[in-house]
Amino acid sequence: MTDRLRLNGHEVEEAFRRLALHMPGRTPNAKGPKDQPGAFRSVVACILSAQSRDANTALAAARLFAIIETPDDLLALPEAQLIGAIRPCGLYNMKARNLRRLAASLIEEHGRVVPRTRAGLMALPGVGRKCADIVLAFTFDEPVIAVDTHVNRVCNRLGLTCQTTAERTAAELEARAPDWVRADGHFWLIQFGKAVCLSQRPRCEACFLSDLCLWLKRQRPSTSRME
Ligand code: SF4
Repeated sequence: MTDRLRLNGHEVEEAFRRLALHMPGRTPNAKGPKDQPGAFRSVVACILSAQSRDANTALAAARLFAIIETPDDLLALPEAQLIGAIRPCGLYNMKARNLRRLAASLIEEHGRVVPRTRAGLMALPGVGRKCADIVLAFTFDEPVIAVDTHVNRVCNRLGLTCQTTAERTAAELEARAPDWVRADGHFWLIQFGKAVCLSQRPRCEACFLSDLCLWLKRQRPSTSRME
């Protein structure tokens, strides 16, 4: 049994080397906030994406961007019409409130320009660390690994990080991830979380990281490798 909480630097490199080898990486057809042209649309799509499937987020975003283009358009849109457009992504009352607050903030405090920094983005209504990092990575091409629920689970099971929230995981991952993984790391970790390290039933028997995984070592005290 291990009482280690984190992989060491060499193991982190090795884990990412294997993820790069086995996972497809950046997908040109990524949906939702990752495929939006421009920072304003990306932030809006991020707010729509909370607890929503990518396809539903993409549908809601397409319906909304068919009737608005700018923060002014968004703020001027009657509430019923806004809710009607974004209904496919769920939680539409709360998201409509956040979108209207976002538009007002951009107009009144930011000259209608989306901030390019994490702190600036996170100061916008309805924007948390994950959303800020997605905008930084996919709109502003910053070398940032955005952490969603899949990335958070994989990082903390494997031992890339040892944290209790996605926000803390993102901060620790930023400190520990080698530079060469930052462009595609988000995709590798999500793909691995969806294909192998599943939420309810991780496929440890088929996992190419099983000899490194600290979670598995804690489950199987007498073995350090999958036999
Ligand atoms: S060994 Fe199991 S828990 Fe560990 S990373 Fe692989 S699938 Fe996830």
